[in-house]
Amino acid sequence: MVTLRKISEEIPLEAEFIPYDLLSRLEVTMNDFLEALNEVEPSALREVFTEVPDVRWEDVGGLEEAKSMLKQIIEWPLQYADLFERADTAPPKGVLLTGPSGTGKTLLAKAVAHECGVNFISVKGPELLSKWVGDTEHRIRDVFKIARLSSPCIIFFDELEAIAGQRGGSETNVTERVLSQMLTEMDGIEELRGVVVLGATNRPDLLDPALLRAGRFEVRLELPVPDAESRRAIFGVHMRTKPLAEDVDLDELVRSTEGFVGADIEAVCRRAAMAAISDFLEGDGAKDPASLKLERRHFDSAVESVRRLRRTGTEPAARN
Ligand code: ATP
Repeated sequence: MVTLRKISEEIPLEAEFIPYDLLSRLEVTMNDFLEALNEVEPSALREVFTEVPDVRWEDVGGLEEAKSMLKQIIEWPLQYADLFERADTAPPKGVLLTGPSGTGKTLLAKAVAHECGVNFISVKGPELLSKWVGDTEHRIRDVFKIARLSSPCIIFFDELEAIAGQRGGSETNVTERVLSQMLTEMDGIEELRGVVVLGATNRPDLLDPALLRAGRFEVRLELPVPDAESRRAIFGVHMRTKPLAEDVDLDELVRSTEGFVGADIEAVCRRAAMAAISDFLEGDGAKDPASLKLERRHFDSAVESVRRLRRTGTEPAARN
């Protein structure tokens, strides 16, 4: 079209035929492509891309109940489609993961996608919000469209409350329109077998109740703050590949981290590793990386610093 547009001015309006020499000059050049690139809007959202995440079940500590429930919801309809047909029933379309920040909602969603071998689209609620009228709805439509094209697929809406807050709160009706788009899409996914919507939120109280009705996010999984056994499992995940010294006492770590969520435990292990590296570099002993070990004291100071961070939200200036 760009090429044609350039030459169209030279075509006499009254001409019945386009002169041959004009036609023979028609040539699509690189510049025409570059010009066209400016005109074409990408139909798919930049932020939306499909992946198969690299998180496995063994990377998720604890949460056994949530794991098996998700597995059933996502794997069964794929594996036993005939049984669902025979029973004349449809699997749940939406699952809402709730629980405090850092309890592993995102991690679990990724793991289930990996283990069930389905595509995964991850969208953060606030990223979908656009200041342009109608744009957010358009983006939601796009997300579902891409999911349909990549079925079997899980759509993961993180911070769902950002796009599905309660109606009646805003003056501009934006929330209302965005929410009703979301409801329309969810109601319409019947024909798109193999698409499951996972939503995650720390604030289920902010969600519009319409979203929680049957046929939408009808299964709700609450991820708790991990108990001692789960904390042990989460430490296990994050210590698995770390070189630990003999004096590291897992029982003691589990006891001293009451109230810590998975993200805190991961932070403890990361900080312990950083402290060990720092000691290793400062020490004047052997410099063979194979001799690097994470010791009990590294973990103890890491637990303290994460505890302080949880309490005050600030880092001390000096290390530990
Ligand atoms: P937010 O609500 O803030 O988005 P979230 O519940 O989605 O938090 P994740 O992002 O899944 O939390 O967790 C953050 C990190 O904490 C993970 O990448 C992982 O390293 C660690 N983590 C959390 N829960 C677990 C768990 N059960 N087992 C192993 N690691 C965990």
